[in-house]
Amino acid sequence: MIIHKNEPFLLFYSSNSLENLLSTESRLSAEPKSSGNRFQSVYSSRFNVYSEPGRDKVYPQLEVGVAIENRLPYLKVRKDKYATPHDELTMNYPPISIELPAWVQPLIAAKGTFFPSIEERMALVIELAARNVTEKTGGPFGAAVFSIQGQLIAPGVNLVTSANCSILHAEMVALALAQKTLGRFDLSDNGKFSFDLAASTEPCAMCFGAIPWSGVNRLLCGARDADARAIGFDEGPKLPDWQAALQARGITVIRDLLRPEAIATLQAYAASGGAVY
Ligand SMILES: [Zn+2]
Repeated sequence: MIIHKNEPFLLFYSSNSLENLLSTESRLSAEPKSSGNRFQSVYSSRFNVYSEPGRDKVYPQLEVGVAIENRLPYLKVRKDKYATPHDELTMNYPPISIELPAWVQPLIAAKGTFFPSIEERMALVIELAARNVTEKTGGPFGAAVFSIQGQLIAPGVNLVTSANCSILHAEMVALALAQKTLGRFDLSDNGKFSFDLAASTEPCAMCFGAIPWSGVNRLLCGARDADARAIGFDEGPKLPDWQAALQARGITVIRDLLRPEAIATLQAYAASGGAVY
C-alpha cells in the first residue's frame, strides 16, 4: 500500500495501518462543524490512497484536516470524490470554455447577422453543419439562436469530438453562447423577449431537455431525429410526444424546414466515415 500526499503534512488519527485508518474514517465521517466556537479548522490536506499498481481497486479520496474540538483531531472523508491509482493528486480541475472553430467567424461575417425568414435561419445552420463536416471540427450538426425578428445572437456547431465533451451538441453550444452574449441564463428575460433556436436536426434527448430552461420560444428543425438515427446517431430516450411537451411549455416547434438539405449533410458525414456516437 502506498499513501501519497500532496502537502508535507499527514495526520493519522489513531492507527498507522491503512485498513484501520479507513475504518476510523468511517467512524468519523460525520461532517465537522465548519463554524462555531467549539470547532476550528486549522489546516487540511488531501491525499489519495492507492492500491498496489495494476489493481483496479479505487479508494475514496480522503480529505484530512486537523481541527480542534475538545482537543481531538478530526478526519473527514470526501465520499463524493474517487481517485484512480494513476490520478494526479491535485484537485485543480481545469476551467471549461466553449470555443467555436476558427472558420465560423468569417462565415458569419460573409453572411451578415440578419436572417428575416425562418428558411434563411435554417439555411445558415445547415451550412454550419456542412462546414463542420468538411472542416472536420465535429459532428454534422449546426444550430443558432436568433431574435424572433431574425437577428443572429449566437451560432453553434457540434464540438463533441473536437472538444472531447459529450454535452457540446450544436444546440447546447448555441444556447450557451447566446446566454453568455446576452448576459442572462433566461434568454427571454422572464418573457420580455422572444427567440428562435434553429437546429439542423431535431434535438436529441439532452438538447430537448435543455430547451425549456433556455428562454427560447420557438424551435426550428431541419432533419428529423429519425434521419439522424438512420445514419447511426443515438438520439437518446426522448418522449414520443416531445413536440407536444415543448408546446405545453409555450415553445412552438416547426419541423421539416429544408429537410432534404439537412438530410444531405447527415448523409455526407456518414459517407465521409465520420465518428458516429
Ligand atoms: Zn443534442
